[in-house]
Amino acid sequence: MKLKKLAVTVVTAFFAYIGTEPAAETSAQTGRWVITTAYCSCTKCCGDDAIGLFASGNRVYWGGVAADWRVFPRGTRLEIEGFSLPFRVEDTGRLVKGAHVDIWMPSHRQAEEFGRQKLWATVRRL
Ligand SMILES: [Zn+2]
Repeated sequence: MKLKKLAVTVVTAFFAYIGTEPAAETSAQTGRWVITTAYCSCTKCCGDDAIGLFASGNRVYWGGVAADWRVFPRGTRLEIEGFSLPFRVEDTGRLVKGAHVDIWMPSHRQAEEFGRQKLWATVRRL
């Protein structure tokens, strides 16, 4: 009797293990290459209606990025190689299409110097 009970416990623990954590993590997190560019809030980058707000309505901040919401929906968290902080999709734009992430930067010069880079990103969906 004692042995049977142990076997049930082991089987239950096994299914609990395969059924929860690993599966949930792989569906919520994926790595992929993205084309990254940068922009700032100036009229050159955002046009004459530049108002210092992301499309989400939030005030611009370092860590907010623009993306194609069909690929990376608003609120998606992105960890991009070379950056210590995680980014968050806050903005979108006509010229941001597909696997392209446009990183908001506080100055136009920084955005220009960043240029265009293909970087590895870890994407965490909500
Ligand atoms: Zn600019």
